[in-house]
Amino acid sequence: MSENGKIAALIVAAGGGSRMGGGIPKQFRDLGGRPMLAWSHAAFAAHPAIGPVLTMVAADQLETVRNLLPSAWCEAGGASRRESVANGLRQLALAGVEKVLIHDAARPCLSHDVIDRVLAGLEAADGAMPVLPVADTLARESLRPDGVHLGETVPRNGVVRVQTPQGFHLQSVIAAHAAWPADAEATDDAQMVRRLGGRVALVQGDAMLEKITYPDDLAGADMRLAWETRTAMGFDVHRLEDGEELWLGGVLIPHHQGLSGHSDADVALHALTDALLGTIAAGDIGTHFPPSDPQWKGAESGQFLQHAAKLIADKGGRIDFVDLTIICEAPKIGPHRAAMVERIAGLLNIERSRVSLKATTTERLGFTGRGEGIAAQAIATVRLPGGMPA
Ligand code: MG
Repeated sequence: MSENGKIAALIVAAGGGSRMGGGIPKQFRDLGGRPMLAWSHAAFAAHPAIGPVLTMVAADQLETVRNLLPSAWCEAGGASRRESVANGLRQLALAGVEKVLIHDAARPCLSHDVIDRVLAGLEAADGAMPVLPVADTLARESLRPDGVHLGETVPRNGVVRVQTPQGFHLQSVIAAHAAWPADAEATDDAQMVRRLGGRVALVQGDAMLEKITYPDDLAGADMRLAWETRTAMGFDVHRLEDGEELWLGGVLIPHHQGLSGHSDADVALHALTDALLGTIAAGDIGTHFPPSDPQWKGAESGQFLQHAAKLIADKGGRIDFVDLTIICEAPKIGPHRAAMVERIAGLLNIERSRVSLKATTTERLGFTGRGEGIAAQAIATVRLPGGMPA
């Protein structure tokens, strides 16, 4: 097994989330267009030091999660958080894992910096966990017959707020779980390791990691995703020739000539694909679908567009808007505009109102004016979660 396979992440997503209301457990609620669980899963999966990422879910949610995250490793948890973690640790031991980061799915905004700090803390300790100082004054409640009143102030010196992921050497945390009294409730895994005399290092936590407990917390988490807007352009030209079909904007248009090229030569979809790839700096259409590769001969260009959209979705991105200009003397684009918009919106899985399609001529000037070819320009605007690892 590679060095990578020896450090695993264990995400606990088996809770019912009753404080959120709304029926769906909170870890599956929508956050920025993805189920909440998907964010921390993606952060672990994209981290170079982390190998397996195992998610523990309630047995009756297993199908749901396998549909939401088809490539994820999910197993059924137990009746309590502690049982779910213990089940997961057993699976990871069988997989040959040596270290594990245990994380709550209700903390979606997990950065690679936090993962790095926990792994560094684990180098010289049995466990490591992110903590934050307590900034607010702490006080006890005093229950009196006429209501709840202010009681004693609690000194906050030396008090920290505990977050996840908590990192452990796998065997230490398995031993701690095995030794824990069956009837006692454990607040977290670090306390269990500490009870056996293990040293748990404290590393700097992250305000981004705030736990989502109440419905209002979701709006705050959406802001913490720090959406960043990206705009990029694409341009393409294909030659008009006799004996070719004319595909434009994913629609077959009756015309006495068609565009020639290695694929179906849909110049509009090519320009748009390049614009989308540009928003994530992922090269151009030729990088992903080399014309030298025979498998793309005659290929439908819709698949190129869908590939670019998938790369954006894989980064947690959203396509906000695309705008296309087709440049030619003939055919007339207007009669086909609605069909092209419909097709492009369908391929990108966005609303039709997010697709703009325009056409112009070059006043009979240049190669487009002479009818030798068709050109297309595109601009795409997407939003990416700037505060999050891909
Ligand atoms: Mg092209």
